[in-house]
Amino acid sequence: MTTQLFKNYIGGEWVAGAGTSINRNPSDLGDVIGEYAQADAAQARQAIAAAKAAFPAWSVFPIQERSNILERAAAEILRRQEELGRLLAREEGKTLPEAIGEVGRAGHIFRFFAGEVLRHGGETLPSVRPGIDIEISREPLGVIGLITPWNFPIAIPAWKIAPALAYGNTVVLKPADLVPGCAWELVDILQRAGLPAGVLNLVMGRGSVVGEAIVDSKDVAGVSFTGSVETGRGIAAKVVSRMGKIQLEMGGKNPLVVLDDADLDVALNAAIQGAYFSTGQRCTASSRLIVTAGMHDRFVAAMAQRLAALKVDDALAQGTDIGPVVDQNQLDTDLAYIGIGQREGARLAFGGELLERQKKGFYLSPALFTDADNTMRISQEEVFGPVAAVIKAQDYDEALALANDTEFGLCSGIVTTSLKHASHFKRHSQAGMVMVNLPTAGIDYHVPFGGRKGSSYGPREQGRHAAEFYTSIKTSYIAP
Ligand code: NAD
Repeated sequence: MTTQLFKNYIGGEWVAGAGTSINRNPSDLGDVIGEYAQADAAQARQAIAAAKAAFPAWSVFPIQERSNILERAAAEILRRQEELGRLLAREEGKTLPEAIGEVGRAGHIFRFFAGEVLRHGGETLPSVRPGIDIEISREPLGVIGLITPWNFPIAIPAWKIAPALAYGNTVVLKPADLVPGCAWELVDILQRAGLPAGVLNLVMGRGSVVGEAIVDSKDVAGVSFTGSVETGRGIAAKVVSRMGKIQLEMGGKNPLVVLDDADLDVALNAAIQGAYFSTGQRCTASSRLIVTAGMHDRFVAAMAQRLAALKVDDALAQGTDIGPVVDQNQLDTDLAYIGIGQREGARLAFGGELLERQKKGFYLSPALFTDADNTMRISQEEVFGPVAAVIKAQDYDEALALANDTEFGLCSGIVTTSLKHASHFKRHSQAGMVMVNLPTAGIDYHVPFGGRKGSSYGPREQGRHAAEFYTSIKTSYIAP
């Protein structure tokens, strides 16, 4: 059987790359999803030139037609939700229900921004000088470079492409090397929905080649990046040095605080969902479970029981709770951190073992550490796998201090029946998003998303706040 070749999309044409890369299913290494073009730097520059040429017309494209294109894309994504969900589960390894849910999110994001095209306006204010009017308007930036990670193969490209196009920018998208399939489908859907040539370009390939060509180009007015802290820091330095606009969404080491007065069932659900679902491969995963003394032993015993009942298997198999790790590299990282945690003196209370399943894949049982303290590497560094550590705190005050004692600040959560502690935590948690009696992972698509400290840099993503990054403000003074 021949493998299908998926090409790059530049200036309205599907074009072969300088090479190709095979996309494999982490649940079943024998399953090849397809062969995907790999661009070189010259091809990335062609994509940027195409986006630059398309910008003047797209920036003034009639808003009804712009909105219609986004709405048509939304409708097709939602109509094909199950099929695209299967592709997503095959290439990334999250379970089929999780993958179908992610595709639904992508569809709704396009629908939201189809509406945003029409709602987008400005302000008028009187001048302090008589007889003058002031108009505050937002204009698109120009060409936007989008660089995305592997863990949300369709939702993250969607939540960057939709606002970029809605506000009149043109786009060069470089998806993560591990998951080109969903990005390719998304671009195909958008081009068939009626985007003019050059408005959206897809260049698949290596970050160090294609990503860098985007980051270094003076024709790229803004770069929106989601990925690791290390890569993000390097990109930011380069973009800022040429005065480009930058938006970074990076790692997390998100705390879930469980107080003595918590409903145990709510706490267990939040911890299991937040720490282990999607194989723990979420920037919003709660990898630090900070539990106060009166609840600690009950919580740890019940967690081990719940974890034993979870099914780790093929992402497409019915009843799978946790799919495989995304690839060998990430699996090696997860195993290395499990070793580090043990050597640091934490107790591996459950899991952390390689598993064999019917098909060969990267299967790892969910790992729970207890007796951890917050200074350990497993408590401070992002693992990005199904690995969490329980840290005991004497009381609420200590739990809050531990929760904030991290260089990250994406998301945090508290499980409590005390309004006083919930309100205090909401105000004093140093995170961009706070959850009360909910898992740290699991967010809405129409409200701002992002963090503080080392987790995020620049304006928020999603919802109407996305306009902060994707537009530039102009203040006009008008005298009669
Ligand atoms: P990564 O940093 O390795 O790669 C992200 C993207 O950057 C990829 O497309 C990659 O090819 C590209 N890239 C790599 N080197 C580059 C370079 N020198 N120049 C330009 N581009 C380059 O991250 P990953 O492993 O794909 O994703 C996992 C990370 O993403 C985790 O740290 C996770 O926390 C983070 N993440 C954050 C959020 C968030 O919103 N905060 C969401 C999802 C994932």
